[in-house]
Amino acid sequence: MTNHQDAPAPEQRALIVVDVQNDFCEGGSMGVDGGSATAGEISALIADSADRYGAIVATRDYHIDPGAHFPNDPDFIDTWPVHCKVGTTGAEFHPNLDLHSVEEVFSKGAYTAAYSGFEGASADDTSLADWLRARGITSVDIVGIATDHCVRATALDAAREGFDTTILLDYTVGVAASSIDTALEQLRGEGVALDGRPGAAAGVAR
Ligand SMILES: [Zn+2]
Repeated sequence: MTNHQDAPAPEQRALIVVDVQNDFCEGGSMGVDGGSATAGEISALIADSADRYGAIVATRDYHIDPGAHFPNDPDFIDTWPVHCKVGTTGAEFHPNLDLHSVEEVFSKGAYTAAYSGFEGASADDTSLADWLRARGITSVDIVGIATDHCVRATALDAAREGFDTTILLDYTVGVAASSIDTALEQLRGEGVALDGRPGAAAGVAR
């Protein structure tokens, strides 16, 4: 007898940590208030749930020359100040994020804007979806920065790729209340489960 409501076995579930990088935390070029605290909370989640996940991975925005992603006059909606350039401190993971249990890192956006971690690839050029499938992962929990941008895009792609997808909102932080609301509405419509509550949105430092 099977019951499709059963939670997947831990070995079939992965945690995806999205873009917890210095430039997206306080003091970074696009610092989101609450980013550094969220990084610490994600580390606590990882420490508490070692037997909950079959794999833990991280994504990072990792730009070389992403063209129109970095215009002279960014609108903070579709275009942004320079951030997460390869080789800079801003591109590094925030020090509050404990990387010991992170098995693989998926980098995105070398020459173009890339919001979804599913646009990323590992060092040996494996896509996130292929990497997860190769390990028998069917279900993903998503955390990180920012709820209304890269977390949103990663979750939408995860659902489209056929993964049973949940965003753990207590472990996300977003840029703006209005765009968080819009994102959550869209995510629900696309079948993404939302667990917890979105953090207060305090905007990106300009
Ligand atoms: Zn970017």
